Amino acid sequence: DGSEKEVYHLELSLENSGIQYQPGDILAIKPENNRRLVSEILRESALNGEARVSIKNDSLSLLDALLTQLEVASLTRKVVQQYAEAISHKVLAKQAADKSQLTHLIGSGDVLDLLVSYPGKLTAQALVDLLRPLQARQYSIASSLEAHPDEVHLLIKRVEFAHESRTHLGVASNWVAHLNPGDVLPIYVKPNNGFKLPPDSATKIIMVGPGTGVAPFRSFLSQRHAAGIEGNSWLFFGEQHFRSDFLYQTEWQQFKNHGTLERISLAFSRDQEEKVYVQHRLLEAGAEIYQWLQDGAHLYVCGDMNHMAKDVHATLIKIFQEFGGYDEAQAQTELDQLISNGRYQRDVY
Ligand SMILES: Cc1cc2nc3c(=O)[nH]c(=O)nc-3n(C[C@H](O)[C@H](O)[C@H](O)COP(=O)(O)OP(=O)(O)OC[C@H]3O[C@@H](n4cnc5c(N)ncnc54)[C@H](O)[C@@H]3O)c2cc1C
Repeated sequence: DGSEKEVYHLELSLENSGIQYQPGDILAIKPENNRRLVSEILRESALNGEARVSIKNDSLSLLDALLTQLEVASLTRKVVQQYAEAISHKVLAKQAADKSQLTHLIGSGDVLDLLVSYPGKLTAQALVDLLRPLQARQYSIASSLEAHPDEVHLLIKRVEFAHESRTHLGVASNWVAHLNPGDVLPIYVKPNNGFKLPPDSATKIIMVGPGTGVAPFRSFLSQRHAAGIEGNSWLFFGEQHFRSDFLYQTEWQQFKNHGTLERISLAFSRDQEEKVYVQHRLLEAGAEIYQWLQDGAHLYVCGDMNHMAKDVHATLIKIFQEFGGYDEAQAQTELDQLISNGRYQRDVY
């Protein structure tokens, strides 16, 4: 549909699971690795997938271990070091011990890249022993049990990138993209007490969630809608294009029509010559944002940690300087105060 991103809205049934959650909580998914990547790892290492290996006290096939138990789509320095030792590769061991080296491989490479770049002989058990346990991936819950009984919804961006002229796929985001109705997922809830709606429903909320960062705010607004709470809410959403990337567009419109959502400010970065992001919309509305915060608003920021959250924070400092008359250090102190009072909550990744 013209979008440069593939984003999935996932609805999971919790029926008979006993699983409960609150808006703001996180759902962890234990994924499986990509079958094709695992086959290529087996081929490249010349190991038999049927070989028996043990992990802790469990005996299983190497194929199962690589598919379901071990992290193969990313590398750490320790994995590379242990691999170098296992295949007695002195040069690689030396490189792996030096933080300035192998950054390309460790940043974006996977186990297949390692095997291809540094071929060597090792046993099935040795391979298993050097790999890390497959980690559960975390996702912001995008639903509310009051509005979506027995369900949990997620908003997941599929991760795909090129490295060493081969397509690399994020484990969990690609696994969920290929699920079929009826599939059962290993999941658990991670309570997230640092990202919660204010206890008093009359408190104003400002929500800043570009991209998939908007997920918990669908949960917040669904909850407030189900409870019949009106107004006092302001959403800042941003993405690349209005036409293809306006996630949950009709739902925000409905929340607006019902009065659940008082205001929405949008930033579509690539619909015009100059890039416009949520922090620009915040600054444009600086006087009102400052006033909402003076009125006791709680501020929530969710999404990209590397750029967005920093830019939003810097913009808040500017807003406090411009509209509160603080100098930069005082503005920072004011924001620190909001953070320690639980009125400026961030969930960034
Ligand atoms: C609290 C929290 C909430 C989150 N909420 C959401 C959410 O609501 N929606 C959502 O989509 N995600 C969310 N995430 C991110 C999510 O947990 C995963 O990190 C994401 O889906 C990627 O997981 P994956 O298994 O697909 O990729 P992985 O298998 O973990 O990625 C494989 C490797 O690829 C690397 N990599 C990724 N992209 C690139 C690139 N472009 N170039 C080079 N290397 C790259 C990674 O560093 C990693 O080493 C959240 C994370 C946290 C911590």
